[in-house]
Amino acid sequence: MLKTGCHLSAAKGYENMAKEAKAIGANTFAFFTRNPRGGKSKALDEEDISSFYKLWNSGGDEIGGNDDEKYETMIKGKLVAHAPYTLNPCSNKEYVREFALTSMREDLERLEYTPGNYYNFHPGSHVGQGTEKGVEMIAKVLNEVMWEGQQTIILLETMSGKGSEIGGSFEELAEIIDRVELNGKDGKTNRIGVCMDTCHVSDAGYDIKNDLDGVLEEFDRIIGIDRLKAMHLNDSKNPCGSHKDRHEKIGDGYLGLDTFAAVVNDPVLKELPMILETPNDLEGYAAEIRLLRSLEK
Ligand code: FE
Ligand code: FE
Ligand code: ZN
Repeated sequence: MLKTGCHLSAAKGYENMAKEAKAIGANTFAFFTRNPRGGKSKALDEEDISSFYKLWNSGGDEIGGNDDEKYETMIKGKLVAHAPYTLNPCSNKEYVREFALTSMREDLERLEYTPGNYYNFHPGSHVGQGTEKGVEMIAKVLNEVMWEGQQTIILLETMSGKGSEIGGSFEELAEIIDRVELNGKDGKTNRIGVCMDTCHVSDAGYDIKNDLDGVLEEFDRIIGIDRLKAMHLNDSKNPCGSHKDRHEKIGDGYLGLDTFAAVVNDPVLKELPMILETPNDLEGYAAEIRLLRSLEK
C-alpha cells in the first residue's frame, strides 16, 4: 500500500501528529522542524516522543471504507521533516548563512530522537552570486552540520528554478551531492539523498506529465535513482518549464490525475513516502489520500 500523507502542524507535538495522521488515513507525514518562516523550535519532549511511537506503531488502523482494507495493518513510511523556507545556506548575507547552519545543526540533533527518518530542505538561492558559488556554499554548510553517526538522511528538494534558486536541475543537485563528504561514494557513509517535488520538477522543465519514465531515466543517469528517497505530490497551477512554484490540488492543475496515476504506480516511486503539500485543510488531505490510493493498481 502507498505510503502517503501530508504536512501536519508540529505545534502540539509528535503524539498529536500521529493522531491527526491516523484520522486522515495517512501512514507517513511531513512537519516543519520549526516555524516555516524561521524562528525558534520548541523544546523537545521525550515523553511526547515515546507516546508518539506507541500510537504510531500500533497496527490495525482503519483506512478507507473497503472491508478488505479495513483491518490491514498499515506499514508506516518514514517521516519527512522539512526545514524552514527561510533557511538559505548560500545567501550573500552572513547572518542568513549562520541561521541556516545553526538551524540545520539543531534540527539534525533533535531528529536523532526519532532516528532513521528524513530531513528535507530547499538547497537555497544564490541571490546573484552564481550557481557555482551557491553549490559550494550549500555543500560547505552540509559538511559542517553532518556527522558520521547521524541517523537522519538529508534530502535536497528538487526546485522549480524560480529566481536564483539552486536545485532546478538534476545537475545542480548532483554537484552538491558530489561535494558532500558523507555521500556514500568511496565506501563512505551515505547520508544524503533527494526528495522530488512533482510541481517543482515540472515547473523546472522536466516533463513528467508526458514522459515520467524519461525524466526518471535522466534522474538516474545524473544523480542515481537510489538517491531518490521521498516525493512531494503537488499538482501545478502552471505548465512545464514555467519556473513558478504554485501548488495546486491533485488533479486540478496542469499535471492532472493521469500524471499522479503514473507516479503512484511507478515501480520505483510507489515504494517512497509521498507527501501532499496541496492547498487543503485536513479533510481535503483525507480526500486526496483516498484519491491517490484509488489510483493504485
Ligand atoms: Fe519544500
Ligand atoms: Fe515541496
Ligand atoms: Zn513548492
